[in-house]
Amino acid sequence: MAEHTAELERFMHGLMRRNPNEHEFHQAVQEVATDIIPYIADKPEYQEMQILERMAEPDRIIIFRVCWQDDNNNVRVNRGMRVQWNNAIGPYKGGIRFHPSVNQSILKFLGFEQTFKNSLTTLPMGGGKGGSDFNPKGKSEGEVMRFCQSFITELSRHIGPDTDVPAGDIGVGAREVGFMFGQYKRLVNRFEGVLTGKALEFGGSEIRTEATGYGAVYMMRNMLAHAGESIDGKTCVVSGSGNVATYTVEKLNEFGGKVVTLSDSSGFIYDPAGIDAEKLAWVGELKGKRRGRISEYADEFGCEFFEGKRPWGIPCDLAFPCATQNEISEEDAKELVKGGCKAISEGANMPSDPEAIEVFREANLLHAPSKAANAGGVAVSGLEMSQNSLRISWDRKEVDDHLQRIMGRIHDQCVIYGEHANGVDYFKGANIAGFVKVAKSMMAYGVL
Ligand code: NDP
Repeated sequence: MAEHTAELERFMHGLMRRNPNEHEFHQAVQEVATDIIPYIADKPEYQEMQILERMAEPDRIIIFRVCWQDDNNNVRVNRGMRVQWNNAIGPYKGGIRFHPSVNQSILKFLGFEQTFKNSLTTLPMGGGKGGSDFNPKGKSEGEVMRFCQSFITELSRHIGPDTDVPAGDIGVGAREVGFMFGQYKRLVNRFEGVLTGKALEFGGSEIRTEATGYGAVYMMRNMLAHAGESIDGKTCVVSGSGNVATYTVEKLNEFGGKVVTLSDSSGFIYDPAGIDAEKLAWVGELKGKRRGRISEYADEFGCEFFEGKRPWGIPCDLAFPCATQNEISEEDAKELVKGGCKAISEGANMPSDPEAIEVFREANLLHAPSKAANAGGVAVSGLEMSQNSLRISWDRKEVDDHLQRIMGRIHDQCVIYGEHANGVDYFKGANIAGFVKVAKSMMAYGVL
């Protein structure tokens, strides 16, 4: 073990020197390298070919200016970026995020993670991620449209159905994908599957909107089944109130879980009676149409709102972080364990701090990392690409059956590489399973 620690330190030292001040990126790589370095210790072929070192370096990063005019004709400038991380097993694939916090470190961590996640889906997709520091909050429909058109006008030079296929993420939903797809189509004068998350009318897939949340619940169901348990009757804590959170709640309700929290960047609501289908539809209207704040839920349904707080202190059986990265600190993790939490499925990307992961490991919780738990979204994006190429549309049941099968395969791969005497280390399992397919492909290509 000591020799692995020394090797990990050497590797991380070099990575941090080459990528200064990129804390989220360092965190994501360290999480993976901690499992991969011991795994490849007795596999000299991977070491000689410097596979891990090459996987920790993106193929390329494209950075560009995005100029647009607001409703008062002021000229506004944002930065756009696309990280094309690795296309060893298929075209670059990953979402686009519009949020003021977007920077190179965040997009690099997301692109790196995406490569392993896409490999886990068993579909032929490489990894990428993009976005901008544009803040869609408070912008008019016209402003969002002009921004999206400007953003994709530059990005269109670098993407294509066999090159790089972006999708949505935080701040980018069906509306933004529609604006970007329309402008792309107009620029290249071709109708092709270059973006996923499209509306059903123009090449979108059934279940894509729901897939990440549904997938996170399927992952939980699979973990619990492996341990002889089920979701039925369990109290669940969910963070966020966007796309991933709302469809996580919908599927949990269907499986007999009781969800008692939702949150946004201003705080969380605690509804001990449970967030049923009717209340959830109200949240969909609040967030999707009115773009309001979750505090309004507390006024509407007469429950408590905790301003500036996260929901992890609420006693629960199961937890689903579905908002953003690093939303569970060491203290939050201890609160969750104290409150009786037995299992976590990460809907958001990298929501747990490294110290929090250690707390969960020591308490032997079932803990599905984001690269496994939220892979349902990109998996159905992959199915959207297949349907676009075949020029057909599958019905809801067909796509949902595929999604459940894929989440089952992801779970089983985690078990193959992560099972130990006291259960399954899903982090280790997902890291190694995601690594192997990409690594073998890179080996086959020689030195590139
Ligand atoms: P949305 O924009 O639909 O919702 C994001 C939610 O998280 C909102 O409730 C938002 O609150 C909250 N949030 C965002 N940033 C913060 C913050 N810094 N602190 C507290 N709350 C915050 O995004 P998605 O639901 O699509 O994405 C959520 C997570 O899931 C992200 O980590 C994303 O990368 C990941 N993911 C999404 C996929 C998808 O298919 N959409 C696929 C795989 C992963 P507010 O409204 O106040 O900003």
